[in-house]
Amino acid sequence: MVSKVSNGHSLDSSEDYFLSTYRMARKPFIKFNSPLKSENLLIVRYTAHFFKLPKWCDKSWNKRPYPARMAYSNQLGAHKMYFSVSLSVVMAVFTFSAFAATDLTTIAEKSGWKQTGRADETERLCHDFQKSYPSRVKCKALGKTPEGRTLYSMIVGKLTDPVVWVQAGIHAGEIDGKDATFWLLKDILTKKIQPDPLAGLCLVFIPIMNLDGHERFAKYNRPNQVGPEEMGWRVTSQNYNLNRDYVKVDAPEMRMITTWWRKVNPVLSLDLHVTDGAQFQPQVGLVVLPTTAFGNSNFHKAGSAFETALVEKMKARGQMALPFYPSFEEEDDPKTGFSRYVSNPRFSQSYWYHQDRLGMLVESHSWKDYANRVKTHYDTVLSSLEVAQEQSKDWRMFGKYSVNGSKVALEFKHTDKHTMIDFPGYEYKKIKSPISGVEVIEYDPSKKQVWKVPFYEELSPSLVVTAPKTGYLIQPSEAAIILPILDVHGIKYSKAKILPPNPQVFRATKTEFNPKSLEGHHTLKVEGEWNEEKVDFPAGMIFVSISQRSPKFILHLFEPKAQDSFLSWGFFNRYFEQKEYMENYVAHQVGLEMLKDPKIKKEFEEKMKDKAFADNSEERYNFFYRKHPSWDVKFNRYPVYKF
Ligand SMILES: [Zn+2]
Repeated sequence: MVSKVSNGHSLDSSEDYFLSTYRMARKPFIKFNSPLKSENLLIVRYTAHFFKLPKWCDKSWNKRPYPARMAYSNQLGAHKMYFSVSLSVVMAVFTFSAFAATDLTTIAEKSGWKQTGRADETERLCHDFQKSYPSRVKCKALGKTPEGRTLYSMIVGKLTDPVVWVQAGIHAGEIDGKDATFWLLKDILTKKIQPDPLAGLCLVFIPIMNLDGHERFAKYNRPNQVGPEEMGWRVTSQNYNLNRDYVKVDAPEMRMITTWWRKVNPVLSLDLHVTDGAQFQPQVGLVVLPTTAFGNSNFHKAGSAFETALVEKMKARGQMALPFYPSFEEEDDPKTGFSRYVSNPRFSQSYWYHQDRLGMLVESHSWKDYANRVKTHYDTVLSSLEVAQEQSKDWRMFGKYSVNGSKVALEFKHTDKHTMIDFPGYEYKKIKSPISGVEVIEYDPSKKQVWKVPFYEELSPSLVVTAPKTGYLIQPSEAAIILPILDVHGIKYSKAKILPPNPQVFRATKTEFNPKSLEGHHTLKVEGEWNEEKVDFPAGMIFVSISQRSPKFILHLFEPKAQDSFLSWGFFNRYFEQKEYMENYVAHQVGLEMLKDPKIKKEFEEKMKDKAFADNSEERYNFFYRKHPSWDVKFNRYPVYKF
């Protein structure tokens, strides 16, 4: 495009503009705030040229008398130079400040992987990535932590594409994943990595899950870990371990993150950690769920195919990756070997699996230095994206199954079947510790050694339950406690319209309260069975249908023997505490009366043959109290029913 300026000089847009301006200059400086109207007109004219504005400016100019136009034309060049120089200074300052503000290199990288940045760095990077790549990156605030910090998530790509979820710092001291994923994102967005590992995928990244814990920053927060120099703390400001909180969702952070996770509905989710434990050569343990070790569905097969391809890709990148969690069967005894396991849904990868999505726990090895560990996480996330690009086509289809009335395996343990594997360890010896007085292991990481150890890969069910044909009924008295948790998990419920006269009722025959508190809960273990029983339901019973998404997860919540059920976490302990009593002198009289019934008398005499019973006066009184109409029929009765 060619534009004519009034001194006859033609300016081609391809010409060096600053050089042309300089050539046209006649007078050095003319102030823009001149009171002369003509000069103001000149400014309009110049602006019109500079920004190639519509022709009305030119028309206005052409109406001016010729001498005036000549005079102002001479000034034009000077104006242009003044304006251009000013503009170039402004642009330089802008460019410099923009560059300074969008430096996407982490403090970790700048420090040579000796340090890690604080929460303010993550907040800045989240916004700066968005500023630098507005068409690809969004920085999203999820809400406030208990200490008032803003929890951030980054979305890289379109949420309509298959989503890969990466979370770091659930245990804030194990922070490798944060610095690794920021580094990887920088390399992907600057096109350093080709082909683009995010093509056709969307990455949702939580840089620091346990944000308050991350800011409890100190040198010795991870005594079994090599670097960074200072790091965050394992649990939240409320002392919750977020990686035990996926089912009960006590922590506000977990409620925010789980709600966000469900909304973006990832096909694959990665939880980046650093493991404690023994010293050995492999850099990382990758625990994928599900796998064919405990199932044969397309979902299980997809998990195993992902795991195999991932371990191969990691190997090609020089990373020794284990497809299992590297902790010995018996602590501090390498000879006992390793196993596969299926964790309960209180843990991230198992929660995701029970939401019918592939999940992976990533555990870099704490005895490698920070630089090595960050690179391991970088390679893990990159390789996972590459495998997801190849394999994720059908991953969104998982979860279409029903369990109504059928037997379902909820928990698993490994069998005795095993293979012997060559495990890359180090030489070690056992010495008697003068500190503890018992044997302790001493490793020598300078001497590699192959350990021939058993690997238990086969899993079999350790808890099988019968799913309800229709669903569960919850007493309305429990609604305020249970329903908000169901909301976080996206489980649908309604007011019960039909109440079965004889639902399945669970009565505990044995209860065992854990004497130790766990995550602020007084957990409970029960024995007993479901049996049909007549129940007088109160008005407003709540119905949870089993015919909805992720029915296996619903079984985990409501089956009383499941280790992560509401009952096991202690939500219903009140129903397993005796609330009313019969005085012994009353029970004595009641007993004497009841023994007049020959049937009861015979039963009592039979019981008395059991020495433990005969020696226990309380149990002898209770034998009669339980048969008396004053006995509390709700004691040890679970306030959830199924039909
Ligand atoms: Zn951890």
